[in-house]
Amino acid sequence: MEMEKEHRSSHPRLVLVPLPFQGHINPMLQLGSILHSKGFSITVLHTAFNSPIPSSYPEFGFVSIPDNLSEQLISADDLLPFISLLNLNCGVPFQECLAKMVQKQEVENEPSIACIVYDECMYFCDAVAKYVKLPSIVLRTTSASTYLSRNAILQLKAEGVLNSQGTSTNIQGAVAYLISALESLFNIFYLGSTSQDLVPGLHPLRFKDLPVSKIGTPEIFLQFITNIYKTRTSSAIIWNTNDVLEQPSLQEIQKQCEVGIFPVGPLHEVAPASSSLIKEDNSCITWLEKQKQNTVLYVSLGSVASVDKKELGEMAWGLANSKQPFLWVIRPGSVDDQEWKKLLTEGFVEAVGENGCIVKWAPQKEVLAHGAVGGFWTHCGWNSTLESISKGVPMICKPCFGDQRVNGRHVSQVWRIGIQLENMCERGEVERAIKRLMVDKEGKEMRQRAKNLKERIQLDIREGGSSYNYLNKLIELIMSF
Ligand code: UDP
Repeated sequence: MEMEKEHRSSHPRLVLVPLPFQGHINPMLQLGSILHSKGFSITVLHTAFNSPIPSSYPEFGFVSIPDNLSEQLISADDLLPFISLLNLNCGVPFQECLAKMVQKQEVENEPSIACIVYDECMYFCDAVAKYVKLPSIVLRTTSASTYLSRNAILQLKAEGVLNSQGTSTNIQGAVAYLISALESLFNIFYLGSTSQDLVPGLHPLRFKDLPVSKIGTPEIFLQFITNIYKTRTSSAIIWNTNDVLEQPSLQEIQKQCEVGIFPVGPLHEVAPASSSLIKEDNSCITWLEKQKQNTVLYVSLGSVASVDKKELGEMAWGLANSKQPFLWVIRPGSVDDQEWKKLLTEGFVEAVGENGCIVKWAPQKEVLAHGAVGGFWTHCGWNSTLESISKGVPMICKPCFGDQRVNGRHVSQVWRIGIQLENMCERGEVERAIKRLMVDKEGKEMRQRAKNLKERIQLDIREGGSSYNYLNKLIELIMSF
C-alpha cells in the first residue's frame, strides 16, 4: 500500500472532520493523504480550536468552522464534557458550511462531494450528512478491543443490569458476578479500591483495565460511549487497526455490525507526513545520532496526559538511576506545576549529564524509527502504541486513562512486547522496569517479538495484505456512492 500518486480527475471530493486533538487529527489527516494519493480531492472541515496546520498538507483544502470554544489547554479531566460541547456547538456552522460547498461545487464545476468521513467523537456529523443528503463514514481511532470493552459496558446498561448511576439491579448467577465486579470497577474510581478480576469474555482485561472514565459521574461516561457507538446512518466504519493485531476482535465486531468495517491501519505507515500541532524539536535526532544501537529509552505520555510533580520526580530519578540513556518529551502543560523545572535541576542534571535529552515535543515517528531507540516508555495512546509496534520497539506501559489501559494490557499480555507499570510511579519500580526492558534477556525477547510483529505489519500493508485489500474495498465503496 505504498503511496503512489494516482490522480484520476473522475474522483470526487471527500470532506474530512477530525476531532481537534493530536491523537485524532493525525490518523484523520493520514487517511486523507492515502485517499488523496488514490485521486480524491480532500477538504478538511475543522474547528478553530486546535486547528490543524494547513501548510503541512498543501494538497488539501482546509475550511475552519466557528466553534464558540476558547483556546485553552484541555486536560484529561475536561475531555468528555468538552467533546459533548463541541458536538452541540458545531452542528449548525458545519451544516451551513457544507451547504455553501455544495452550492459552490455546482456553480464552479468543482468535483462533487462523495461523502463525509468523520471522527467517531464528532457524531453530530451524522445528522448533518443526513440533512444535506450525503453519505457518511465513521473513522474509529481507538483499538477494536477498546470498542468491545466499552460495548460490554453498554450492553450491561441496555440489559438494565447497570443503571444510570453505575449501580446494579437485582441479578443472579454469572451476571451478578459481572455486575458486582463492574460495581467494584466504579468503586475503583469512586472509593479507591481495585479489581484484579478478569472480565468474562474480554481476555486478558481485568476490571481495572476497562476503559471507564474516572471523571464526573458514570452517567457522563455512559452517555459518551452511547453517543460514539450509536448505530446511525453511516455507510461504513474505517478502523485504524488491522488483522495482524486484532483479527479476533475485528471478526467479533463485524458480526455485531450492520455496516462494513475497514481495518486499513496502521495509517501512519502508509502516510508518514507530520501533522503536529506543536513544533517538533529535531535537535533530539542529532542527540540520538551519538547514542549506541538499541540503548535509548524514549519517554512520552502523548498530547493530553499529565503527571503531578511527585510522579515527575519519581520518573526523573528512576530514569537517572537506571543509567540508561533517555530521550524524554515533557510537553508544555503536562506537569501540574509551573515550577517543575526546578525539580529537575536539584542534582538531577548532574546525575544524568549527557545521558539524557529533554524536549518539549519530538518528531515521534522518526524517533521510534531511529536505530538508537531500544524502548518506549509510553502512556499507550493508540497512535503511540501502533507507531511503536510498527517500528519494532518494545514498551514500558504506564497507561493514564481511558483506552490506554486496554492497549497497555494487550501490549504486555497479548503481543508480549512490553512491561506494564502497575502501581503508582515509584523510582525503584521505574529503574527495575527499565533494566528488564533495556538490559535483561526478557527485554531482548520482547524486542525480537516486536520486530517480528513489525515485519508482519509491513507485509500486511503491501499488495496482497489485508490492510491493502481493505483499502481497495473502501475505495470501491466510496466510488459506488
Ligand atoms: N507525538 C509527537 N511528538 C511527541 C509526542 C507525541 O509527534 O513528542 C504524536 C505521536 O506520534 C502520536 C500522537 O502525538 O501520533 C499522540 O497520540 P496518542 O494516540 O498516542 O496519544 P494521545 O495524545 O491521544 O493521548
